[in-house]
Amino acid sequence: MTQRPYNFSAGPAAIPEEVLQQAAAEMLNWNGSGMGVMEMSHRGKEFMSIAAQAEADLRELLAVPAHFRILFMQGGGLAENAIVPMNLSRGGTVDFVVTGGWSQKSAKEARKYATANVVASNEADGHTTLPAPAGWKISPGAQYVHICSNETIHGVEFHELPDLKALGSNAPLVIDFSSHVASRPVDWARVGLAFGGAQKNLGPAGVTLVVVREDLLGQALSICPSAFDYRVVADNASMYNTPPTYSIYMAGLVFQWLKRQKEGDFTGIAAMEARNLGKANLLYNFIDHSQFYVNKVARDCRSRMNVPFFLRDESRNDAFLAGAKERGLLQLKGHKSVGGMRASIYNAMPLAGVQALVDYMRDFEKTCA
Ligand SMILES: *Cc1c(COP(=O)(O)O)cnc(C)c1O
Repeated sequence: MTQRPYNFSAGPAAIPEEVLQQAAAEMLNWNGSGMGVMEMSHRGKEFMSIAAQAEADLRELLAVPAHFRILFMQGGGLAENAIVPMNLSRGGTVDFVVTGGWSQKSAKEARKYATANVVASNEADGHTTLPAPAGWKISPGAQYVHICSNETIHGVEFHELPDLKALGSNAPLVIDFSSHVASRPVDWARVGLAFGGAQKNLGPAGVTLVVVREDLLGQALSICPSAFDYRVVADNASMYNTPPTYSIYMAGLVFQWLKRQKEGDFTGIAAMEARNLGKANLLYNFIDHSQFYVNKVARDCRSRMNVPFFLRDESRNDAFLAGAKERGLLQLKGHKSVGGMRASIYNAMPLAGVQALVDYMRDFEKTCA
């Protein structure tokens, strides 16, 4: 088979080729059932087994403790911006740390349901740093504190989750981990709820992962649709209404692929973290040693997944993108609110893909000399 291009899309994003091949092979007939997965009842034993396996594999991969529930929902990260406050705010005060485009959106949406305070922000420096947790002005009685643990657009990542207890707050921490879930371990002791759309790092769009501490269930506002009430979803094993069956199946194949990954002595998520570090270091080191390209994010909070960068001479942007496409390096254009370029190097991107990008960047610079 000829090599596929390397796809640097921010999302929906590349899916491991082995997973796509397996899905293709099973498209018309899953496991001898005579049915494709899209054609199965979600309450039949075939799909029930697919969903149960996906949940068990995810729990094992991410080391999710027993007192957390795993929910497969719909609506994506944006819907969770409303679903979280409907479930956890009690209509009271909720706190947001704004570190980029996504957390900004989350705070704005929460205002429909609760009093949403911005308790720290990196807006003044163009979302290129992270405000130190010691300086966060957490509201007394905050129902939760929301952060986006990886800002997909601005390329800022928390490399350590804040310890709210150490800051004197009992509020649960809510993390939007849409764009780095499964790229590194999660410190669940610091988390109350985590949510993420699947289409960055877990599979196709359509399923939204919610991992929520059991004691946070059952306090939804009365206006909350039943299908979005975490208690209802949990009590019905994510099948209160028809779940996005095919997306859950695909995510399940990605989980099995993740479990097979090895990097040195590491397997699973630890292997992914080691590989992702290698990929990110390769790209950032190249950019930092270049006079031609620049990344503006402070070094200690640079995302391992989303690398926004600029050509110092922006008049060459179109030529850069056209040349990249010719070399089989796709979807490198930056987000419209930031401009420049963005390389999203999620789990499905191999080191060879990042090497191919760096080689191209070096060659492009030479053609401009
Ligand atoms: C992509 C993304 C979202 C939005 O997800 P949708 O599925 O489009 O609703 C939210 N948060 C983060 C961090 C994202 O990367």
